[in-house]
Amino acid sequence: MYDALIVGGGAAGLSCALILGSAKDKPFAKDRKIAIIMHQKTSHLQSALFNNVLGFDPKTTGESVLKGGKEQLSSLYPHIIQIENEKVKEVAFLSDGYQVLTNKNTYITKVAVIAVGYDNLLMIKGLEDYVERHPRTEIEKDRIWLRNTDHLIKDGLYVAGTLAGWRSQFAIAAGSGAHVATDILTLWNDGKHTKVHDKVEV
Ligand SMILES: Cc1cc2nc3c(=O)[nH]c(=O)nc-3n(C[C@H](O)[C@H](O)[C@H](O)COP(=O)(O)OP(=O)(O)OC[C@H]3O[C@@H](n4cnc5c(N)ncnc54)[C@H](O)[C@@H]3O)c2cc1C
Repeated sequence: MYDALIVGGGAAGLSCALILGSAKDKPFAKDRKIAIIMHQKTSHLQSALFNNVLGFDPKTTGESVLKGGKEQLSSLYPHIIQIENEKVKEVAFLSDGYQVLTNKNTYITKVAVIAVGYDNLLMIKGLEDYVERHPRTEIEKDRIWLRNTDHLIKDGLYVAGTLAGWRSQFAIAAGSGAHVATDILTLWNDGKHTKVHDKVEV
């Protein structure tokens, strides 16, 4: 049983995983079992080139962000399990969590974060009831979102990134993943609002 399972290793998923990982010393997050299904093949980052993202050097490639994000997660927060070479096929609702089925395995989690992008090929069984036309893209692009309120689809089930209904900009997608991470940390902290900040030593 995972405490949190993130689906998708793009901008939103990686950002969510990094912030959950960074809470490792908080008492309410300490012994949580967290994983990310690190599928990156169809990330929009694969072909992106960034000149307009704060903190990125001009001409940073999305491909390098994907690789670097994965390495950052494993070197700083190795307790976050990275599940490679698997693609999610179905999400089933349980009384106390979710069953996430991939092409290879089945996982049970209390909290699931769906961050698989807004392409209209989302064919993850079990989520059909929440699929609607994306509210912030041109109709002809045929993008989707999962209907949600502040990223929450239903108890324990979150959506992050473009699939949450946001426009496709890196900072927005990463921010959405970060937002979901702090919501999960707040949940684990009995509703007490939570963030994770590292500080320069003086
Ligand atoms: C060509 C191009 C150029 C761009 N240039 C800019 C720019 O200059 N500035 C800017 O701000 N933004 C730019 N963007 C937008 C930016 O890349 C996106 O906004 C961002 O990647 C969206 O993040 P996301 O997490 O929602 O989706 P993604 O980054 O697409 O991540 C979704 C992840 O889910 C995974 N996935 C999909 N299906 C499954 C499944 N069934 N199971 C498990 N995992 C799955 C995918 O492999 C992927 O890793 C550009 C995008 C493109 C395509």
